[in-house]
Order: sequence, then C-alpha cells, then structure tokens
Amino acid sequence: MLNPHDKILVAGAGGFIGGNLVAELLKRGHHNIRAVDIKPKSEWFRLSSAAENLVLDLGDLDNCQTAVKEVAYVFNLAADMGGMGFIENNKAACMLSVRINTHLLMAARDLGVQRFFFSSSACVYAAGKQINPDVVALREDDSYPAMPEDGYGWEKLFSERMCRHFSEDFGLPVRIARFHNVYGPHGTFAGGREKAPAAVCRKVIEAEMSGNYEIEIWGDGEQTRSFMYIDDCVNGIMRIMESDYDQPLNLGSEQLVTINHLVDIAEGFTGIKLRRSHDLSAPQGVRGRNSDNTRIRQVLGWAPEISLEHGLEQTYRWIYDQIAYDQAAKRASVAV
Ligand code: NAD
Repeated sequence: MLNPHDKILVAGAGGFIGGNLVAELLKRGHHNIRAVDIKPKSEWFRLSSAAENLVLDLGDLDNCQTAVKEVAYVFNLAADMGGMGFIENNKAACMLSVRINTHLLMAARDLGVQRFFFSSSACVYAAGKQINPDVVALREDDSYPAMPEDGYGWEKLFSERMCRHFSEDFGLPVRIARFHNVYGPHGTFAGGREKAPAAVCRKVIEAEMSGNYEIEIWGDGEQTRSFMYIDDCVNGIMRIMESDYDQPLNLGSEQLVTINHLVDIAEGFTGIKLRRSHDLSAPQGVRGRNSDNTRIRQVLGWAPEISLEHGLEQTYRWIYDQIAYDQAAKRASVAV
C-alpha cells in the first residue's frame, strides 16, 4: 500500500485520466498530492483545491526536478496526445512526449523516488496483429517483434523500455499499464483530440439538440475496439501501482464492439434514430483491437468490469450537461 502521508506527484493532472486520478487519490485519503500540467489551470478538467497545483512544462528537466522534489511516488499521465485524428496527424508531437517520461525518470532516480508509474498504451502492439475486426485479443507478449502504431506507439514502447532500464540499471521501481481506450466524464469531447466514445456521444447529443438527425462515422464503422470506463482505469492504476509486478500489464476492457454498435448504444439514450453516413477517408487506426486480460487476472485477481452500456451512459449525461451549460451561457451573453 502507498503510505498516505507520503507526497505523490501526478504528472498530467490537468488531463482526463490525471484529473480523475487526483480525485481518486484524495478519496482514498492521500492528501499530500502535487498535481502538475503544462496547461493553464483554467483548462484543467478537474482542479482539486486540496492538491498543490503547479503549471510546468515537464518536457524540461529542471521542471521535472521541481515537480519530483520530496515526492515518494510518481504517476506519469502527461503526454501530448489525442484520439486517432490527432495521433495520425501529429506523429512528431506524440514522439516528443519521450522528453517528459525520460526527464521524469531522471529526476525520480536522482531524488530517490520509491515507485514510478508510466501510462503506456495498446498502441504499442504490433500492427500486423490488428488487421482484422474479428480480433484475437492482444497479450502482453504481442508487443514484440515491434511494429507499433507510428509516432505515438513507438514513443510508448520506447518509454516502456526506458522505464525497464531505469529499473534494472538504477534500481528505480517501475509499474507500467497499457491502457486500452479510456473514456468517461471530465475528458475531451470536442476540438480534435477527443476519442471515439466522447466523439460519438457529442455527435448524438448535437443531433438530438439541433433536430438534425444525422451522424457521420469515421470509416465503415465495422472496426472493432474495447473501451474502458474511467473508474476501472483509476482503480486499475492504483492496483498496479500497489502490486509487486514490474512488467507491462494490459489495463483495458475485454468487451469488444464495432464503432457502429457504439453509435447504437449512444443513440439508445435519446429515443431518436439517426441517418448515418460514413467518411471512408477519415483516420481509423487499426482494424480491430481487444485486450487479453489473462495476465492482469493472474497478477491482481482483478480486471476491468464496468459495462460499456453503463459507462457510456454516464459519459453521455456528463457531455450533455457540458454542452447544455455552454449553450445557456452563450444565450445569456447574447441577451446581455
Ligand atoms: P489527456 O490529453 O487528457 O492528458 C494528458 C495531459 O498531459 C494533458 O492535460 C496535457 O496538457 C499534459 N501534458 C502534455 N504535455 C505536457 C508537458 N510537457 N508537461 C506537463 N503536462 C503535459 O490524456 P489522457 O487521456 O488523460 O491520457 C493520460 C495518459 O494515458 C497519456 O500518457 C496517454 O498517452 C495515456 N493513454 C490514454 C488513453 C486514453 O484512452 N485516454 C489510452 C492509452 C494511453
């Protein structure tokens, strides 16, 4: 168990998973939290006044040393990333996140950090194993021989490797989770970095609110994925961080769906039926991907368990409230 009195760094705390992780840590009685992100605080998804909140560029080594000072546990959730539309068009930016993890590792080694968590991704898996929508779920060993997602996936695989060598060469205890598509409230749902569940919810809500009952789906919609609800994600992060297991572990749902079915589920929250069009030129990523949770069950006796239907409904309601609030605020400013 992590000592509740020790200082914890959450890097990327202004983001989706980092912000939800800070909330979970506070709920579990960890009150000595340093939350760091490059974004101005006004843009953080969740800002907890109970944490020490700092705006720092963690690509910079000096800033990493400031962030890690007096810290016992580091959770690195900071990366320049987004959904398929972002990572397929910003490969260099994705790879530059290597600076964040490398400098955090160096600072952690130099300042005596007790445990270091790195958020890796299912994008490390070899592309050749993901060409079919009817997938064989990916086991941890499927990341080698290496041919990961260009840009983003290579950065994650390299950074996993860097963690491993900091552990072997310098004795820094590391924990690594390979997240498979995380979704839920308090995350990006517009602007180009959003992932499929949030994008689908937003599009369905916009159709419902505008009365224009149409939706555009990227690709033919038959590509398959699994999606993990944020509560399972933060729970899994804590379990992995507190375990003795120091190799990469899948952290994802095993509930496989097509994107078309994802739209069916979101549509079901509205009672309306949408006309669908398919943009075959849009970024789609791999054809099929699922998580094999055999190893996490063996190691932790647990695996993500929240159904997509339940999690997507929470996400849909939250995005609905955000859009309704923004629209009301716009109307009020026009009226003034
Ligand atoms: P996010 O974009 O919401 O959060 C990442 C945060 O990192 C952002 O707030 C961003 O401002 C911050 N950041 C970027 N560059 C920084 C820098 N130089 N210094 C400090 N902060 C910086 O993303 P997320 O969904 O919360 O993802 C968290 C981690 O999990 C990332 O490493 C991501 O690659 C990984 N991951 C996420 C998913 C997913 O489905 N969300 C899947 C696989 C892996």
